[in-house]
Amino acid sequence: MMIVMREAATEEQVSAVVERVESVGAQAHVSEGEFVTVIGAIGDREHVAKLGLEGAPGVEQLVPIMKPYKLATAEYKRGERTVIDVEGRKLGGSHFAAIAGPCAVESRELMLESARGVRDAGAQLLRGGAYKPRSSPYSYQGLGEAGLRLLAEAREETGLPIVTELMDVRDLEAVAGVADVIQLGARNMQNYALLTELGRSGKPVLLKRGLSATLEELLLAAEYVLKEGNEDVILCERGIRTFETSYRFTLDLMAIPVLKELTHLPVIVDPSHATGRRDLVESLSLAAAGAGADGILVEVHSDPDRAVCDGPQQLRAEDFGGLLRRVEQVAEIAGKELAAAV
Ligand code: PEP
Ligand code: MN
Repeated sequence: MMIVMREAATEEQVSAVVERVESVGAQAHVSEGEFVTVIGAIGDREHVAKLGLEGAPGVEQLVPIMKPYKLATAEYKRGERTVIDVEGRKLGGSHFAAIAGPCAVESRELMLESARGVRDAGAQLLRGGAYKPRSSPYSYQGLGEAGLRLLAEAREETGLPIVTELMDVRDLEAVAGVADVIQLGARNMQNYALLTELGRSGKPVLLKRGLSATLEELLLAAEYVLKEGNEDVILCERGIRTFETSYRFTLDLMAIPVLKELTHLPVIVDPSHATGRRDLVESLSLAAAGAGADGILVEVHSDPDRAVCDGPQQLRAEDFGGLLRRVEQVAEIAGKELAAAV
């Protein structure tokens, strides 16, 4: 149930509604919009309905939320879009952001070189995996905590906020100590224990769509994070499995406008993991920007031939700046304001 407060409602009236919602064992999520405050009451609808909040001081109306994802649904923000501020870099709304960097943290030299390349190209955030989800247990698994230290050094040097993946709840403290945004990879999209912990972490979460997940499943996964009081979730379309075998995954471009209709959360696109091929990254980045994406997540490496994983899809740092300028032009046509180059 969504309790819409009047524009003139006071803080005391909001608190009084929250108290009453909680008195029947429901959770109250307060969302302060530009004009009005909305309280999402999550729990037994009958119990909340029995409170008779329609006539309570400061309450404008009660609106039931029919969607199974109550806090992620666009209705909950009444047309407003969530804008996530990561150290001054904005994701969502009228903003377009590029997250770029190598697949994995491999060595100090390669990480710092790649980070400088990504910064010079004008990306807003730096990515790099210290914990890698690999299909084979014999493949490179990442540097772990040593990799996190290198990411911290890269941030220190470039000023770029860090996006890095968490795979195991036991590493949460270490990852949260360095990450400005914690990534939950496609293979863990439905790891509900991890989602709940990320909801409590206080860090923005970049949630990748599972390889065979529907949009509803993706939004329900986001709901696990939101439900814990963490409002900063970025959704990422990264290609899904279809019958097509000519490329790694099929980038579901339609997910962008459809997700934007269903949710207020930012939606970005990862063309690198979708295609698995460097030469396809630009056209799909342009298409994503044209379809209204709030940003792209691209693998960029100072020397992809030396990369220990995903070499064929990683762009050379010197090629990334030109690509990003062209993508930003399309984003502007699609209605985005461009962030000033860092
Ligand atoms: C990644 O971004 O490093 C990654 C492994 O992506 P995904 O989870 O989408 O496969
Ligand atoms: Mn990769």
